[in-house]
Amino acid sequence: MNQILIIEDEVSIAELEKDYLELSGFAVEIETDGAKGLDKALSGAYCLIILDIMLPGADGFEICKRVRQEKDIPVIMVSAKKEDIDKIRGLGLGADDYITKPFSPSEMVARVKAHLGRYERLLQSGVVANEVIEIRGLKIDKTARRIWVNGEERSFTTKEFDLLTFLAQNPNHVYTKEELFTNIWDMESIGDIATVTVHIKKIREKIEFNTAKPQYIETIWGVGYRFKM
Ligand code: CA
Repeated sequence: MNQILIIEDEVSIAELEKDYLELSGFAVEIETDGAKGLDKALSGAYCLIILDIMLPGADGFEICKRVRQEKDIPVIMVSAKKEDIDKIRGLGLGADDYITKPFSPSEMVARVKAHLGRYERLLQSGVVANEVIEIRGLKIDKTARRIWVNGEERSFTTKEFDLLTFLAQNPNHVYTKEELFTNIWDMESIGDIATVTVHIKKIREKIEFNTAKPQYIETIWGVGYRFKM
């Protein structure tokens, strides 16, 4: 997503901004009508918006307010009047920056790059996808530590969750009870491996349709357990 939307009715200014941004490697789209610009801003996949204030159709104040309600991409407002900047501040529209006309195009490009850099860092720090394992009807969200069976959430104890997750992320691998005990209970397996059997039984009651014919965790007689892929 590398496209910038310029909403500006003065074509010479819009073209100047476009030229400089394209020289810096951005893709740029110009919209001269405020109402159409608002539609594009809300429906398109832009990384940043450069927004004039006095526009036909809808003014920059209204556009900024509406965009902010739905998107968190940077918005840089451009105005010919110093008073407008006080108004932008006073209205709390959520614009990220403002530039007064006439402006130096290279300064505008520098500000665009600064805001995009900040926005990308924000995205990387704030929005991290959860780690999810999905096998047939079983969904394990490792990050949120939640489990769903055919879309229905089930509750698991810490050790049940750890044991099922360990098996599910190592499918088709046969583990002995000793290995599972060492891995999940995080200590030397000194005897009570029966606890593994007890936990497998409880997990099966929560995830299997028929515990006598398990479709997820198979018992490998005389050896241990295996998660069927
Ligand atoms: Ca204008």
